[in-house]
Amino acid sequence: MDTTIFINIVYVAAAALFIYGLKLLGHPSTARKGNLLSASAMLIAIIVTLLDQNIISYGWILVSVLAGSAVGVYVSKKVEMTGMPELVSLFNGVGGLASASVAIAAMLNAQLSTGFAVISVVALIIGAVTFSGSLIAWGKLSERISGKPIVFKQQAFANYSLIAATVLASALYVMYPSSTMLMIVVVLLALSIGVMAVLPIGGADMPVVISLLNSYSGLAACAAGFALENNLLIVAGALVGASGIILTNIMCKAMNRSLVNVLTSGFQEVLSNDIVVEGEIKPISAEDAFYVLEAAQSILVIPGYGMAVAQAQHAMKELQELFEKNDTETVYGIHPVAGRMPGHMNVLLAEADVSYDLLLEMDEVNARMEQFDVAIVIGANDVVNPAARELKGSPIYGMPVINADLAKNVFVIKRSMSSGFAGVDNPLFFKDNTRMVFGDAKEVLNNIVRQFSD
Ligand code: NDP
Repeated sequence: MDTTIFINIVYVAAAALFIYGLKLLGHPSTARKGNLLSASAMLIAIIVTLLDQNIISYGWILVSVLAGSAVGVYVSKKVEMTGMPELVSLFNGVGGLASASVAIAAMLNAQLSTGFAVISVVALIIGAVTFSGSLIAWGKLSERISGKPIVFKQQAFANYSLIAATVLASALYVMYPSSTMLMIVVVLLALSIGVMAVLPIGGADMPVVISLLNSYSGLAACAAGFALENNLLIVAGALVGASGIILTNIMCKAMNRSLVNVLTSGFQEVLSNDIVVEGEIKPISAEDAFYVLEAAQSILVIPGYGMAVAQAQHAMKELQELFEKNDTETVYGIHPVAGRMPGHMNVLLAEADVSYDLLLEMDEVNARMEQFDVAIVIGANDVVNPAARELKGSPIYGMPVINADLAKNVFVIKRSMSSGFAGVDNPLFFKDNTRMVFGDAKEVLNNIVRQFSD
């Protein structure tokens, strides 16, 4: 059989495995299997690609595979669960960089036809935007760069000018595809667009940006697939691009924002972050909180990013079992953007063996919020902020939140009065029915567990 036909048959099989793997990723119980299946399909695809007649150096490929695998294994083993969102962001960026590099390699081929010049420049732009945008997102997630929108005067003008300059330079490149200088100009402009697009997007909108960058990394790979005439890269890129767009849509719905609205943040006036929320806070010790919890009939647990920081999921599972022994109904309310990556809370709670049936969506718990005796907020802040309902003008106004303040009693476990990722004050902390349990989430929960056991 002709090698090209054989390679393409294997590609079709790999593509089918990718799609099945994606389907399995749709549920936590099958997600590991889905991941393994898709990774194996990728390995098979890489092996058959090596049969391609046009490969120039197997030596360099081997060195790259070994170096890439070593870095991948080291980073994945070393990363803490709290560092996962940043790692995902870096992976998106590296995906973009790879596609941009493929495009550059294609562009350095002097025989580029107009069609290939167009597709290569598209791959280059999307890849470079994804790379620099993801680096900024990584900086924001790791708090190396402020999570607040970074804006300056004439930003909209600067952004429009950058886009116009990129279109112009790309058109010139397509006319003169042998010009390396024009290619370098396109690279620099696209890198600047990535930076400028993500800098003004602040706090609560970051989930949308991260899922969108994920989708871009797929689109860049898809365009690179066209440039290389590699069918599997086209299919795999399209799958990542499409699933990224679906996730972006889910995130937009969770924030009650339109994609256009988020993407044009740099073109709009930024809302004030200066609304000061004041009132009396009522701290309570873990020991006293125990008496209320012991008497409760139904408890809602609302986890947030602080639970990931404290690694408090196991302590919470232990406490849940004690609540259940005490005949107290215990469920979890999961906000779609709680934590720092999509599904963050689900992953943590699954790791602690919390049954998936106990994880309820925001709408479900909001519908029966008044019936919960106690809502325990564990290191969550923005996702339970009633300013989203009550304070017009707040940057998070209009974002759907878990209405913890409407439960009969609220315990907020956090270390201080500091704000969440969006940098917005939280009126929940001052409500009459709220008690603040100050401390590290794991320590506080362990303390309550001890009270139950004594
Ligand atoms: P927040 O970032 O709003 O709040 C987390 C809270 O956890 C902080 O106020 C902090 O308070 C507390 N905390 C931190 N460490 C500990 C600890 N060891 N023990 C106890 N508490 C702790 O988190 P939410 O989950 O409520 O909201 C997520 C935010 O992140 C949203 O704004 C969302 O838009 C954004 N985001 C989400 C992404 C996603 O995909 N899910 C991606 C990017 C951004 P203190 O310091 O006082 O302890």
